Amino acid sequence: MKEKLLLFNTLTRKIEEFKPIDPPNVRMYSCGPTVYWYQHIGNLRTYIFSDILKRTLIYNGFKVKHVMNVTDVGHLTSDADEGEDKVEKAAKKERKSVNEIVEYYWNIFKDDLTKLNIIPPDIWCKASEHIQDMINLIKMLEKKNYTYKTSDGIYFDTSKLKDYGKLARLKIEGLKPGKRIALGEKRNPTDFALWKFSEIPGKRQQEWQSPWGLGFPGWHIECSAMSMKYLGEHFDIHTGGIDHIPVHHTNEIAQSEAATGKRFVNYWLHGAFLVFKGKKVSKSEGGLFTLSELQAKGFHPIDYRYFVLTAHYRKPLEFSLEKLTNAKNSYERLKNIILEIEDDGKVNERYLKKFENAINNDLNIPKALIVLWNLVRDKDANGKYRTIQEIDKVLAIDLLKRQNIYVPKDIEEMLLKREQARKEKNWEVADKIREEIEKRGYLIDDTPSGPKIRKKDF
Ligand code: AMP
Ligand code: ZN
Repeated sequence: MKEKLLLFNTLTRKIEEFKPIDPPNVRMYSCGPTVYWYQHIGNLRTYIFSDILKRTLIYNGFKVKHVMNVTDVGHLTSDADEGEDKVEKAAKKERKSVNEIVEYYWNIFKDDLTKLNIIPPDIWCKASEHIQDMINLIKMLEKKNYTYKTSDGIYFDTSKLKDYGKLARLKIEGLKPGKRIALGEKRNPTDFALWKFSEIPGKRQQEWQSPWGLGFPGWHIECSAMSMKYLGEHFDIHTGGIDHIPVHHTNEIAQSEAATGKRFVNYWLHGAFLVFKGKKVSKSEGGLFTLSELQAKGFHPIDYRYFVLTAHYRKPLEFSLEKLTNAKNSYERLKNIILEIEDDGKVNERYLKKFENAINNDLNIPKALIVLWNLVRDKDANGKYRTIQEIDKVLAIDLLKRQNIYVPKDIEEMLLKREQARKEKNWEVADKIREEIEKRGYLIDDTPSGPKIRKKDF
């Protein structure tokens, strides 16, 4: 019997026992990328978090149906329903069609997921292919009197919903319009666009006819319409980054619950940010690194996954190349120890139990890593190999894969010889050895902390 699974629910701000609506099935929706640029490593932290959640659910015997959207229209440069559509803007800038932009960045995102051992969703849904579902949902809201029209679109009247803002615990009274909150034609500062009219018809690449006029959907209605289409009006889990709590997810709850009269989602889980010098890593600020950029610097994608797993998902994680290098070194040490372990056909129940306790205690992966380290260092423990195999079902850091990090002993010896030659300033010999090592498929990076070796293909 496995431990019960405890998860922190943003809605209640409490750690709760996870109980699916229809066991063993679990229906889960993750807000996906807005595909106008590369996803940076900050974004990818959020998807690693939802992957750990999904793998933990699967580990616990649940059958997960996972849906992820792709936002290719309607996400504006400002959260206040103003500014340009991010995807349209990128298309204009890169002189490409929206479709080219979307396919290009979406494919790169999919590759990044693969590189990071993130299980792809069962269903991908693209906003522009679900316009009719969004229109239908807005019609339902209109019928129930939750909407009103302004000169630029159809808006949701948040004052009509008793518990608007419950997820973020918004203090609505504090949000009276004033100097800082421009109301425009909105009735309440928290009201948001469901449908935006095209400013000049024919100017946008993406616009659709609707009962209210030519235009495009608001970003929030997209996730409500698509999640309910594939998972039903009431489902188990919804995930995203913490920035989605006050606006995007708050509005998803408002419009979904207003339309159906039912509770929308039972468990809301949010991942904390990857930060750089204390500030959120964000692409509008110029971004930090993409996964490919880290690879170009000699990191393996799984080094990054390991780095992310060293922090709890609800704690900010400070990024630096130095910190990532430390994580990489630990990961390599771990892999090298594991390489020596042989399969004795047993599982170490004691360690496995400790591991299960950690993951089922609100995904305490840093603790799970400690359990793993203790296991591999424990001279008396048996069943190491198969326990690691179980652990890697959740961590997914290729613990037993004899690739990537593994450097054969003779190559290590060649490296030492080269070092000796360099010390003796015998450059000819040093270069020759480097060439030989390269021929064997390995590259040497000379770093301040000594030479580092890696496989050519990563
Ligand atoms: P976007 O493509 O901007 O919609 O963002 C995709 C996902 O990344 C969302 O779930 C965001 O909450 C999340 N996100 C954005 N910035 C960061 C960051 N610095 N660290 C972690 N997650 C982030
Ligand atoms: Zn969303």
